[in-house]
Amino acid sequence: MSDWYVAVAVRDVSSNRAELLAQSVVEALAGDGIIQSVLDPEAVLGGVGGYRPGPRIAEVYERLVTEVEFWRLVTNGMEPCIGRWVNSLGFTCLDGFTCSECNQKFAPGDDSVAGPFAGAIGEFMIGVDDPTVCCPSCGAAHSVRNWLTVPHFGFVNLAFQFWNWPPFGTSSWKVNIPAIVQEVTDHQVIVTHGRL
Ligand SMILES: [Zn+2]
Repeated sequence: MSDWYVAVAVRDVSSNRAELLAQSVVEALAGDGIIQSVLDPEAVLGGVGGYRPGPRIAEVYERLVTEVEFWRLVTNGMEPCIGRWVNSLGFTCLDGFTCSECNQKFAPGDDSVAGPFAGAIGEFMIGVDDPTVCCPSCGAAHSVRNWLTVPHFGFVNLAFQFWNWPPFGTSSWKVNIPAIVQEVTDHQVIVTHGRL
């Protein structure tokens, strides 16, 4: 079984506020017992580390008997990603790119879009705030953020990757973690995912 993450990307955060807001989210989730309060460098894959599930995790996530206890996995941390973030592991589980102008859908492996899209990710990471990708069907050159993809690629300055946590929004969850992030940061969030 490969590792994955569910991610909460926080929209429209300026780079100079990202660290402060990340700290506020960590304090809120740790205060609720959803994550631990001390960073563990071994809890995530890559990066500087993450916060393992907290003492109340088995209360706030009512797992099915057939499900593994994700809080016992080796890789189970919540990783704050401060600074430019793209859902780079989204490509492995991508269902395609849909143009928001003409609704044409392109397969994940269609190089007429996938190539420019990957290029736009590179541009964003080196400092271009809003790179564009041209639609081969209608010719519209629109913001990379406006292409419709599942999973979403983010393009934000702050995100939280929850390694090997189950998808949010199911009835197993007794708390709404994306809503907590939205409330604490006072910014809209995007829920997405990626897989190794
Ligand atoms: Zn189009």
